[in-house]
This record gives sequence, structure tokens and C-alpha cells, in this order.
Amino acid sequence: MKAAIIAVGDELVLGQTVDTNSAWLSARLVAVGIMPTYHLTVADDLDAIAGAIVAASAKAGLVVVTGGLGPTKDDLTRDAIAKALDTGMELHVPSLERIEAFFRRVGRPMSDSNRLQAMCPVGAKMLDNDCGTAPGIEARFEPARVFALPGVPVATASMFERHILPSLSGRPGRVIRTGVLRTFGAGESTIGQMLGDLMKRDRNPVVGTTVSGGVVGVRIRSDFPSADLADAAMAETEALVRESLGDFVYGRGEETLQDAVAGLLKRVGRKVVTAESCTGGLLSKFLTDVPGASEFFSGGWVCYSNRLKVEQLGVRGESLAEHGAVSEAVALEMAAGAIERSGADYALALTGIAGPGGGTPQKPVGTVWIALACAAGAGGGGMPRAKAALFMFPWTRELVRDRAAKTALNILRLELLRSAAG
Ligand code: AMP
Ligand code: MG
Repeated sequence: MKAAIIAVGDELVLGQTVDTNSAWLSARLVAVGIMPTYHLTVADDLDAIAGAIVAASAKAGLVVVTGGLGPTKDDLTRDAIAKALDTGMELHVPSLERIEAFFRRVGRPMSDSNRLQAMCPVGAKMLDNDCGTAPGIEARFEPARVFALPGVPVATASMFERHILPSLSGRPGRVIRTGVLRTFGAGESTIGQMLGDLMKRDRNPVVGTTVSGGVVGVRIRSDFPSADLADAAMAETEALVRESLGDFVYGRGEETLQDAVAGLLKRVGRKVVTAESCTGGLLSKFLTDVPGASEFFSGGWVCYSNRLKVEQLGVRGESLAEHGAVSEAVALEMAAGAIERSGADYALALTGIAGPGGGTPQKPVGTVWIALACAAGAGGGGMPRAKAALFMFPWTRELVRDRAAKTALNILRLELLRSAAG
């Protein structure tokens, strides 16, 4: 069965409130094997809501409406259902009694407008609400069933579980599993190309990509009559995706790059230290986002001025004079200095131009050198090693810093993978 979700509210279409109800409802529906195929968002407008209900019930067997059931003049879902059903309204006495009892319990006077919430479109059914005054409404638009729930997220959730979910169980078996693999280091188009036919829309499990914060997520949806089949197909597709994307895949689910790096460092019992200029501590912040970071993170320096780079990390004055602070030589010396002074196994150093000012034709905004130094013995090598690479992140200050810090994490991740592979 297909489902449609209609979110009602001026605040939603105006962008003042983020529509979390639709996302929550979709996730719950998928979990019980029902595919949400439409999200509609409509303003507090009688005709728009009625039109959305009619259109959605022509396309989906289950329609869930949230919002617009409150007591004020801008709450129009009740009237819209009556309009869409082409019927009138009648007082639902049990709902009125519940609302009156609610006000007695909280010791507040009930206003006349609350009485409106006990009005029910003729032919529809009221659904009681134990989180507030607004009852929900269930109506038939044959063959579709339409449920309207109050918009307050806790009420939407609790009424979905109580009134809708039980009526959905016992339907012919369909199990939908969803999962996501996380990648870093390639853009969405490159990942899409590497996935090739895996992304064909008629494939089951179906594979799609999304991008957020420089991380490309590869989403997999497996839709089968039984859990065993859905799980087996999911595992098989996940293996094919991993095979196509290799080291670009760093994790799954909600895993972050720092989680992946933390896992790898802990596995080999090694620690990392940071030496940051343009990222101002963001890399250390990312690493310490992981609970128990002291197990794999020694600490770090934020050396913004040349003087601190020299005094704290032992960067040579000649390197700064000859190549400038944003240079391969300085990045390498920052990393080497951090290793020497901390005794850590790995050091990541960043120096770059975050902008918006400070760029030159030779070193435009977004130029970042990132160095990785490995202590003698780290990763199996007998000699200390270091390497640096130049990156261009031609974006805003916030993005330059974010991508630079994540790229540094990724460089260390790839180094740890390579040394683990021997
Ligand atoms: P309503 O039932 O339309 O009176 O909504 C009550 C409150 O719930 C609104 O003022 C919003 O703050 C919140 N709300 C309504 N719809 C949504 C939604 N789709 N997602 C998140 N919050 C919502
Ligand atoms: Mg509203």
C-alpha cells in the first residue's frame, strides 16, 4: 500500500518551522512496510487543504494529515475534511466531554473555541487525544483511509501509534529495510558513476545518493515479502556498493568520519595529535566529539600566528619567510613538531586561507595544505614519515574549515587502512 502525508500549516510553507512530522511519520510507515510516496505541505487555507486531501486519497490508500486541528481560526483541517467529503459538521458529545474534563483537570476555564474541536465532519470518526484537547479524525475517501492528527509532534506521534498503527498491522506481508553507507573523498556525481547500474530505479533493493556536509550517503531500500528476503538482499547490495566504491566508504548508518578514525586508531592502539592553523581547533573538536577520545587523541595546538608556529611547533623562520605560512614546508614542519613534542603516533597539521579575505592569485581563498606525519614504528614503518597535500576548497569560510578538517580525518583514515592492510 502507498501512503501520502499532508503537513498543514502556514509556518511550514513559510519556512518558519521545519516539518519534522512528515519525516517521523515516513520513518514509522517504512518500518511497518508501507511506502510513503507523497509528502504535501499546504498553508492554513481551506481550499488548499481540501484539495490536497482529495488529490492524495486518489493516489494513496493511506493518507495521514498533520496539523490544523487546534482551536483557533487558522485551524482548518476539520472544515477541509467536511468540504472534501461534501458534508456538514455535527457535535461529537464524547469529544466535548473529554475536552471539558481536560480543562477541569488542568484547572483552566474552557473557551468557546475549544468547543469547535468537538465538531466532527458527518460520517467521520473522532480519535481521542491524550496529549491535548484536539481530537484526531478518521474519514473514508473510498478506497483510501484518511487520518488527521494534531500537529504538535508529541501528539502526532502518540496518536499515530495508538490509532493508526494497530489498524495497519495484519496486512499482507511486506518488509522494507533501509540503510545508508557513508562515503568521503568523492563528489556525488563521481559516486553515482562508480555505482553505475546499481542506481537503476527499477532495481530492488533500490540505491540512491544524498549529500550533506561533504559526506555522500548511499541509501539502500530493500522491499520484499519477508524479513529474511529483505535482509539478505540488503546485505548483498551493501556488499556490491562497497565493492564498487572501495575506500570511499568509511562507515554506515549515522557513523561520522571521526567515528571511523577513532575505531581504526583504537584497533591498533595508536594516538593522534593535531596542529591547526586555519581550522582553529575544528579538527580537535571533531576528534573529541567521539566519547572516550583520550584513548586515541593526545591533544593539539592551535597556532594561528607565525610566532606561535615557531615557538610552539618548531616551524623554521626560514620556511615561513621563503614559502609563507600556507605552504607545504610549513605544514610538514607543523606536523613533525607536533609529533616530536607530544610523542603521539600520528600528527595532522593544517594551514590554509579560510577567507573571505587574505587570498592572492597564487594562493586563493580555500587553499589548504594538510600534512600527516607518522612516528617511527607507526603503521609498521621503521622510519618517521611525513607527507603533505594541497587542497582547494573554493567556498565560504565555514565550508573551507569544515571540509579541510574532514579531509584531514580522511587522510589519516586512509593511512590507517593502508597500514592495516600491511
Ligand atoms: P497545529 O495542530 O496546526 O495547531 O500545530 C500545533 C503546533 O505543532 C504548531 O504550532 C507547530 O509548532 C507544530 N507543528 C505543526 N505541524 C508540524 C510539523 N509538520 N512538523 C513539526 N511541527 C509541527
Ligand atoms: Mg497549525
